[in-house]
Amino acid sequence: MRITFLGAVGTVTGSKYLVRAGKARLLVDCGLFQGFKNLRLRNRAPLPLDPASLDAVILTHAHLDHSGYLPLLVRNGFHGPVLCTPGTADLCRILLPDSAMLQERDADFANRHGTSKHHPAQPLYTRKDAERALGQLRCMNYGEDARIGKGVTLRFDQAGHILGSALTRLTWKGTSLQFSGDLGRPESATLPAPATIEEADYLVVESTYGDRQHPHVDPETMLADVINRTSGRGGSVVIPAFAVGRTQTLLYHLARLKHEQRIPDLPIFLDSPMAINATETFERHPNEHKLTRKQCHEAFDVATYVRDPEDSKALDRSAMPMVLVSASGMATGGRVLHHLMHFAPDPRNTILFAGFQAGGTRGAAIVAGAREVKIFGNYVPVRAEVQNMDMFSAHADADEIMAWLGGFRRPPKMTFVTHGEPAAADALRHRIEEGLGWDCMVPDYKERYDLD
Ligand code: ZN
Repeated sequence: MRITFLGAVGTVTGSKYLVRAGKARLLVDCGLFQGFKNLRLRNRAPLPLDPASLDAVILTHAHLDHSGYLPLLVRNGFHGPVLCTPGTADLCRILLPDSAMLQERDADFANRHGTSKHHPAQPLYTRKDAERALGQLRCMNYGEDARIGKGVTLRFDQAGHILGSALTRLTWKGTSLQFSGDLGRPESATLPAPATIEEADYLVVESTYGDRQHPHVDPETMLADVINRTSGRGGSVVIPAFAVGRTQTLLYHLARLKHEQRIPDLPIFLDSPMAINATETFERHPNEHKLTRKQCHEAFDVATYVRDPEDSKALDRSAMPMVLVSASGMATGGRVLHHLMHFAPDPRNTILFAGFQAGGTRGAAIVAGAREVKIFGNYVPVRAEVQNMDMFSAHADADEIMAWLGGFRRPPKMTFVTHGEPAAADALRHRIEEGLGWDCMVPDYKERYDLD
C-alpha cells in the first residue's frame, strides 16, 4: 500500500488522501481547501491524479472540508462509487448543492462587479455537478467489514464528530490503515463517543486541537453568562454556527437554559435553511445520536426557523435583545454576513463563535481582535463583544486525542499527524513520540509514504 497526502497537511482543510493498494486506487476524503487564499487556489489547481482512474472515494464525514471537492472530481471524470455512512450521505445531500449554489453566486457577483481577474469568473462547480456527485453515493453501515473490490476491505466505526462521522479503516493483504477522520469528543451532549480502536498497522490522526485543551467550563454556564450579560445591556447575541453539528448542539443547550429559566425568555432564531435541513436530518437518524425523540423536539422547537431571505433581512430590524444563530461558522459566507454587518458595530451586542476558526477566515480575524472586517467590499467596524466558545467544538482536544490513542494495544508502525495548523500538528507529534513512544511524522503536501 502507499498513501499520498493531498490535503489537510499544514492546514485543517482540503482533506484528501490517495491510497494505492495493489491495483486499487482510492481517495479517502475529497475536501475543499478553505481559509487563506494560497490554500483556496489549490482547489483550482489540477489534482496530481486522473479522477477517472480512481476505483472509489470514501468519505469520513460530510463537512465540506472533507466532501466539498467531490462535485469537481466528478466533473473531471470520476465515475465510481462514493462510500459513506447513511448519515453522511443525507448531510451531503444538503451540503453539496448548497456549496455549489454559493460557488455559482460568488462567480455571478464577481462578474457583475468585476472583482475577479478571470473574465468571465467561473464557479468551481455547479449545482448540476453536485447533483451528479450525489448520484454516486453508496451507503455502508458502521461496524461492517465490506469488500470494496481489488482485495480491499473497508470498515466504518463511530467517530462521534458529527452525524454519520466515521473512523475509517482500509485493509489490504493483512495490512491495515486506520484514519481517525475528524475525531469527536468522549462526552458530547448529542453524539456517541468515538469507538475504541485497538490496533492498526498505520494510523492517520487529526490534530486540529493538537496543542490545546478545551476549557473545563460547563458550556451551559458560559452560554448563559454571555446571553445574560448581553441582554442585560440591551444587546443581541449573534452566533455564527456550523450548520451541521454545532447548530444542533447549540439548540439543545439553549432549550435547556430556557427551560430552566437560566436565561430570559428572549426570541431565538435559527436563520440558515441548511441548518434547518440538517436539524431535520438529525431527527431522521435516531440511532446515530444520543437524543431521544422528545429531546430532539424540545431542542429543535426552541428556535424560530427562518427560511425566507426577506425574513432573514427583517431580523436586523427587529427588536433586541435576541439570540440569532446563523451560518457559516467561520463567517466565510452565508446569511450571518448580513447580520455581522448590522450587529458587529454596536458594542451592546456579542458575536459568539462556537468552534475552531481556520487561519485566513473572517472568524479567525474577529476572534484575534480585528477592529474591522471586510464584508461585501465594505469595512465593517467590530465594536461588539467577541467570544469564542471552544468547548462547543466537535473536535477532541489534545488530551482527548491522547486518551483515544491510549486504546491501542500495540503501536502502529507509523502514525501520520494531519489536519492541523503546523504548530498544532507538531505539538501532537511530539506528545505521541514522548508520551507513547510511537514512530510518528507530520507529512508535507503531496508527500508519499510506502506502507508495507
Ligand atoms: Zn469535520
